Amino acid sequence: MESLVLPFSLPINPEAFNSFVPMKQFTRRLSDLRDHFSDRQAVENILVVNDPVIYEYWEMEYDAPGRGLSFGMTRILPGVIGKEYYLSRGHFHAGGDGDELYVGLKGRGLLMLYSKDGQCVTLDMLPDKMCYIPGYMAHRTINIGTEDFSFFSIWPPRIDHDYATIAQYGFPKLVVSGSIGPEIIENPAFHGD
Ligand code: MN
Repeated sequence: MESLVLPFSLPINPEAFNSFVPMKQFTRRLSDLRDHFSDRQAVENILVVNDPVIYEYWEMEYDAPGRGLSFGMTRILPGVIGKEYYLSRGHFHAGGDGDELYVGLKGRGLLMLYSKDGQCVTLDMLPDKMCYIPGYMAHRTINIGTEDFSFFSIWPPRIDHDYATIAQYGFPKLVVSGSIGPEIIENPAFHGD
């Protein structure tokens, strides 16, 4: 079968991704994530002073049905807002079709997944460890370490990303900095469908 792309190789790091022309880079700051941290007062207190970068990501998305693989990389900085660790917005794959693979590159993170039937699962993400994400589960990543947490991701082309549901309802659980380290607690503001 005819293919739309030529073979290529690419180092998995920000410098290589920045200079790879088809790749798009995005930066998410605290002001972009106002609705995603549980401590709204802490968010506003920080934004009076500055607007820190929470994470950045690179992605190359194919738009060819049945051909190609989309891929990207995410780098979440270390830090907390209130007691909640820096996190990615998280999303559903609209329609629930299309699974995804994450591979840890650097640092120490968590992957939180939940489904509309009430399952909520949290997986450790470490360098050289992969996580398989079923397409029906929303997914978010959280940096629970003291250095950058980054991972590589691969997903099928033409997935529609639904960020609005998470912005409205949140995730069932929060990951906060406790007295002996990261703690996973119920999200009092969560209200599913
Ligand atoms: Mn995804």
